[in-house]
Amino acid sequence: MSTVEARRATRSFGSHEALAPLDLVIPSGQFVSVIGPSGCGKSTLLRLIAGLLVPDDGEILVDGRPAESARRLKRIGMVPQSPGLLPWRTVAENARLLADLNRPGTGRRTDGAADSESLLDEVGLADVADLMPHELSGGMQQRVALVRALAIDAPLLLMDEPFAALDEITRAGMRDLVGRLVERRSITTVLVTHSIAEAVALSDRVLVTSARPARIVADIDIDLPRPRPLEIEDDGQFVGLCAAVRRALRRGTGVPA
Ligand code: ADP
Ligand code: MG
Repeated sequence: MSTVEARRATRSFGSHEALAPLDLVIPSGQFVSVIGPSGCGKSTLLRLIAGLLVPDDGEILVDGRPAESARRLKRIGMVPQSPGLLPWRTVAENARLLADLNRPGTGRRTDGAADSESLLDEVGLADVADLMPHELSGGMQQRVALVRALAIDAPLLLMDEPFAALDEITRAGMRDLVGRLVERRSITTVLVTHSIAEAVALSDRVLVTSARPARIVADIDIDLPRPRPLEIEDDGQFVGLCAAVRRALRRGTGVPA
């Protein structure tokens, strides 16, 4: 289980302010989506939580320690926007890449191969484990990236618009899959997305950010029951929550959403 806490965290690139002072607490096991206009600083926020960037001011803590040190302890799994698979490794080898790297000196589990095998099975890729990445569709590649992140068994999962490049139908399937996988594991999850429906369908809570520099303009509880099948999109409460997110986006950015 893992918590995320930001205390007055800021980040600029030169004179370019990407993240306004941010205060945020994500309790253990919560699924949070971040939605906001393009270029506002969402990836910057995620990279700060991942410990891949350090804040200029303030701090970002994961499990009470600086994100950078949580990352070194393999407490954080990340699914990037493009799957970034190594073209010379098979699907199975890509899936266990980080788990393999995890072995020396961390004192954590060393059964990454077995774990990634059962995960590949769970996401429906057991049959293609020996293929090379270029032989897979985009959605399949993204599922391998998801397995690669989950196989390190980290209690915090970060996803940066992981389904953005996928077609609508594949995307719906991925949403369903992610929902089921993280529900079963009760890991803490932060998803950056630009899909309102995806954010509402998956999350316990949706954070709406302003145009750059990113500020949180709305923090909306999604109190829909789980599990949430795809048909939940037709539900009146679901539609109402989507409208609330859309209104917050409009308020925060001045852009029609
Ligand atoms: P988003 O993910 O919301 O689209 P980003 O966090 O990627 O936005 O970027 C926010 C702003 O910070 C953008 O204006 C972007 O150009 C700038 N930025 C992000 N990363 C860097 C970097 N490594 N160097 C310089 N500028 C950056
Ligand atoms: Mg981004």
